[in-house]
Amino acid sequence: MALEQTLLQPVINATGVLAHTNLGRAPLAASVAPGFRNLEFDLATGKRGSRTAGVGRLLATASGAEAAMVVNNNAAAVMLVLAALAAGRSVAVSRGESVEIGGSFRVPEVMEQSGARLVDVGTTNRTRVADYRRAIEHPGADVALVLKIHPSNYRVEGFTEAASVAGLASLPVPVVADIGSGLLDSSCPWLPSGPPSWLGDEPAARQSLAAGAALVTFSGDKLLGGPQAGIIAGRADLVAKCARHPLARALRPGGLVLDALQTVTLAYLRRDVATHVPFWHMASIPVTELERRAVSLATSINERHPGTAAAEAMDAMPGAGSAPGAVIASYGITVADPTGDIATRLRTASPPVIVRVQDQRLHLDLRAVTPTDDAVVADSVSRALEAGAAGRGKDR
Ligand SMILES: *Cc1c(COP(=O)(O)O)cnc(C)c1O
Repeated sequence: MALEQTLLQPVINATGVLAHTNLGRAPLAASVAPGFRNLEFDLATGKRGSRTAGVGRLLATASGAEAAMVVNNNAAAVMLVLAALAAGRSVAVSRGESVEIGGSFRVPEVMEQSGARLVDVGTTNRTRVADYRRAIEHPGADVALVLKIHPSNYRVEGFTEAASVAGLASLPVPVVADIGSGLLDSSCPWLPSGPPSWLGDEPAARQSLAAGAALVTFSGDKLLGGPQAGIIAGRADLVAKCARHPLARALRPGGLVLDALQTVTLAYLRRDVATHVPFWHMASIPVTELERRAVSLATSINERHPGTAAAEAMDAMPGAGSAPGAVIASYGITVADPTGDIATRLRTASPPVIVRVQDQRLHLDLRAVTPTDDAVVADSVSRALEAGAAGRGKDR
């Protein structure tokens, strides 16, 4: 049993966090086809090919870049860009963007590992283009590029100022924008109703490149909604330089990832993201639909255990550090759990049901639950309630 619980398995995500860091971020779409694939074989010439050329071209088209390549994750993308374009030289970074993301991605440490020197620019709360210019023009500074990092998982408010990509593009060195989330286009042309309000001012690949970024880097498994991957997109000469660097071989993704990423990118190009990319499908479900499911779920539980479940409006979140503070209107059920035993029973059920606990009540948000799993959730909650009742019976 202990080993079983450490094995990877499908779980039901009732936390309301769509790209949940502990649950693999964006949910995977359909599994990939078994058997051989032309991973490094050029079908046109019959010669050895590049494993990321095909999906790279798709990603470039989808983001308006000249070229794109894929590595294992965004941390690897940033590391490779710095190593290939700035090793032994300096990289200018705003003091307000020298961030830590997800525990172990820390800008100064990534910089150190890449062999590039970090040059701090500006102040924690305010950095202007003139601050970068001064750093670049400083005698002996040898600044190879400017790195602009999106502070994905926190917000600085009040007396703040940051230089825009467009402003930085006037500098004499390339601007690399680590946008993090993998939003391809801020106008969301793949959604019939356009960009959702919760997206806020999340930076996007297409707009960052159009504003003058030489390269953008982003994750595959955040707002892009694909598998874990890191994408480097932008100027063809710079992408080629990254691809030629020896680290590129160490950071290259496998065929499973490239296949899954290709499926997701094709959905963007066909603009049927809302149906074929699970993250965007979940984010787009009308709240009235979730309310209907929540009421029916609560009814079904209350038929077996009267007065235990209540349908309630909830706030879901995009997750994975994207659009911090943003909420997506949602609906779910709450169940009293004063001892925490019910949450434990749900977590150790088969399949595991992961919930949010607040004020001794379980919150089961339905936005990230597949509708066909509603019945499974109803059964699991009922069984957990029954086990609780049996347990109390024994104590007496
Ligand atoms: C998430 C994120 C990273 C790290 O990406 P991984 O894909 O988790 O390696 C780096 N930079 C930014 C801005 C991020 O948001």
